[in-house]
Amino acid sequence: MPDTEKNKNENGSKLSLELIPCSRCGNPFFRDPNSEGDDVCENCIKLEQRKRQLQLGVFDKVIEVENAMEQSINEMKNQLTVSRGKFNKDFFLKKIKNRSQALNKSIELIEKIEETNDEKYIEEYKALFEEMKKKYS
Ligand SMILES: [Zn+2]
Repeated sequence: MPDTEKNKNENGSKLSLELIPCSRCGNPFFRDPNSEGDDVCENCIKLEQRKRQLQLGVFDKVIEVENAMEQSINEMKNQLTVSRGKFNKDFFLKKIKNRSQALNKSIELIEKIEETNDEKYIEEYKALFEEMKKKYS
């Protein structure tokens, strides 16, 4: 963008938009030539924001799940104290195994979100954690 053109627009004499391809998804979009920086379309910017929120949320959720696991280990200890005979070790081991599988799956999904920027995986990820929260709390 030549400076003369830029100055004209900044003075508000004329509102013009340029059509350029998004540097991420390749879709063409209209951009204000005066806007600083990005050649990234609105969809990609929104997706990026959602990803950032999700990443912030991940740590909280992992802690939530860990707390739930700790609770179940305490449950397990209590049962051990109450009755060694009736303690169902297999049941608890299975529970812990299921949880670690769910955590692995969630890490896979985070990697896919990073690689593909696909909203589908964000939805999948949210659904997975809702499910985990219900199951393990
Ligand atoms: Zn884009």
